[in-house]
Amino acid sequence: MANLIKAVRGTRDLLPPETGTWNFVESAVRDVFRVYNFQEIRTPILEDLQLFQRSVGEETDIVSKEMFAWEDRARAQSEKGQWLALRPENTAGVVRAYIEHKLWERPGLQRLYYIGPQFRRERPQKGRYRQFYQIGAEVIGPTAAGSESPAVDAELLEMLASLLERLGIQGWTLNLNSVGCANDRPVYLQALRDALKDVVHAMCADCQRRAETNPLRVLDCKVPQDQPIIEKLPRMSDYLDESCRTHFAEVQKILTAMEVPFVVDHRLVRGLDYYTRTAFEFTHGALGAQNAILGGGRYDGLSESLGGPPAPGIGFAIGEDRLVMTLQESAGVAAHPADVYIAPLGAGMNMHAAKLARELRGKGVVVVAGDESFKLKKSLETASKMGVRFALILGENEVNSGQFALKNLSTGEQASVGKTEIAGIVTPSK
Ligand code: AMP
Repeated sequence: MANLIKAVRGTRDLLPPETGTWNFVESAVRDVFRVYNFQEIRTPILEDLQLFQRSVGEETDIVSKEMFAWEDRARAQSEKGQWLALRPENTAGVVRAYIEHKLWERPGLQRLYYIGPQFRRERPQKGRYRQFYQIGAEVIGPTAAGSESPAVDAELLEMLASLLERLGIQGWTLNLNSVGCANDRPVYLQALRDALKDVVHAMCADCQRRAETNPLRVLDCKVPQDQPIIEKLPRMSDYLDESCRTHFAEVQKILTAMEVPFVVDHRLVRGLDYYTRTAFEFTHGALGAQNAILGGGRYDGLSESLGGPPAPGIGFAIGEDRLVMTLQESAGVAAHPADVYIAPLGAGMNMHAAKLARELRGKGVVVVAGDESFKLKKSLETASKMGVRFALILGENEVNSGQFALKNLSTGEQASVGKTEIAGIVTPSK
């Protein structure tokens, strides 16, 4: 026998009924985002590798270790191939599109959301995949349109709290920090580097590397022995300049007024280079080690670093895989069984079944059409196992009289009903 071909490591098939939960999440997301006036953007999965090198940053784990990237075949022999990458995140693509299509010429702020797959070559484990899905949103625009306002940050965070509430997810924590800006961060980084010089030899190998390449990431370290050392390192909050400090205070003030609970976590730095000022993460206890459901922050200099005009912005990305896991671990969303199974009895009935199915589906009924060659008992058993709620028996007599035997498969009750009544009876009341 030929070798079985399986889904690639770190990728997975999403099957029904689980896809029902995914659809439930996505429609709730679209509903909630709509009332905050967000509109959808869809950017390509393939991008120029440089986009991520210049935005996410070459020293980050994502770009240095986790990217699926390759040199594409050159169009002509004299040319070099272009380096392409599967997107590891979507903010860079959205900001590229903002610049490429001059979206700043449109009035007000751009409020854009996306839903789609992202790719990172990480070590797969529960809640961590190589192809995973993110739901994200970005608010971006000229300063004159108010893009730097702390009210934008607070509104985005409040929208997330509303979304989680709408999905019935409780027990989340919003962790919040300010990572400063181009004015104050270099000063802080220097202080951090200086402090690390004396202690880094006692830290884990990863921290020793990070101290050189990306010292902020030392604050992210989870190794227990390193924790007392990290606690004593300088804190960003002591280095914020006046404008960043006021900005952060204002975000907190508005959140408090809206009764959105949060915790200031001075060690929250997030992995990507482009973040400035507000940085945040929502975590959830049910998720185990990979407990972040979503993360985000401000990126006031990102557009300029990609060659665009000044366009401060803020955004987040929800890990959809983890959001779905949280739902399944807490409430669980019921699968949606079909409403009615049509069991055609006897030769020549398939076409009548097809006709009736077409009529009922036109009225929004979810129909499974059986086959005239199936035995009635077998049909009813199959329908019951599939969780279909009603079976409709369709034989020559029924077609001639217009009266059909409709069986409720959970109670076993059977009634004779006219054709026009079927849809009303089998459709679940909303
Ligand atoms: P990030 O873009 O790293 O800030 O990630 C934002 C969110 O995406 C995280 O909070 C996770 O919920 C989710 N996420 C990131 N990487 C993965 C992964 N490899 N597998 C599943 N979800 C992920």
